[in-house]
Amino acid sequence: MHVILKIFFFALGAIVGSFLNVCVHRLPRGESIVSPGSRCPKCGRHICWYDNVPMLSYVILRGRCRHCGSGISSRYFVVELIAAFLFLMLFLRFGLSVDLLVYLAFTSSLLVMSFIDFEHKIIPDILDCPGIVIGFVVSIFLPAMHVRPQPWDSIFESPAVIAAADSLSGIILGGGFLVVLAIAGKAVFKKEAMGGGDVKLLAMIGAFLGWQMAALTVFISALIGSVVGITAKLRMKGSYIPYGPYLALGAIIAIFYGERIILWYLGRLGMGSSLAF
Ligand SMILES: [Zn+2]
Repeated sequence: MHVILKIFFFALGAIVGSFLNVCVHRLPRGESIVSPGSRCPKCGRHICWYDNVPMLSYVILRGRCRHCGSGISSRYFVVELIAAFLFLMLFLRFGLSVDLLVYLAFTSSLLVMSFIDFEHKIIPDILDCPGIVIGFVVSIFLPAMHVRPQPWDSIFESPAVIAAADSLSGIILGGGFLVVLAIAGKAVFKKEAMGGGDVKLLAMIGAFLGWQMAALTVFISALIGSVVGITAKLRMKGSYIPYGPYLALGAIIAIFYGERIILWYLGRLGMGSSLAF
């Protein structure tokens, strides 16, 4: 049974990934993500279902349109592959639960935002603004998604209120931190170093994961970003670096390892579960 579920979530991820590709292509262009069906961007011919099987069709057709032979972006294959593995790993981490559904939706939207940011250097408001509100509301109904201990554990009794406070401070810390960074970046580099989209994205991550995870996300993304050479890119003439993908990757790593990292860190500080922030 477990093996069937693993295959199911991997396949589901690939299918959802195929839809996420449609979102990546159409959302920035202001097109409907529901209709019309998939078309070749070059020749405009309708893509049949058998040429639209996630991952497989791309390999079988060697990344080319069946009709006109023009190349299809490898991004289609990459997004489907990432989504497939992400869905499988989230299932293994959270099992069949409501939490799993939330994480599947949350990380799917992170994936869409990352690839839109890659291509267009923007993150559409239609994704991150509702995401902030949804993250806050979900926190009230699924307080177990938030890390404990929290500094206000002794003030509030209801887990829902504690999680809501965590979500709200995640929004404020996440958004506020990058606003400060954006202003500082502009002062130092004399140009836009951080976009408004990044601010809203981190606020959304804070809404879903709380302030500690948002801080951890910043730390992880900065670490990865500097390894990849973000600082070198910052000095390049007039180029704006998309930071969204790093934040998204940081958040996904935080989902899997964040709780362990935070508890380990608190333990090192000698705070453990007794909590003395
Ligand atoms: Zn074509």
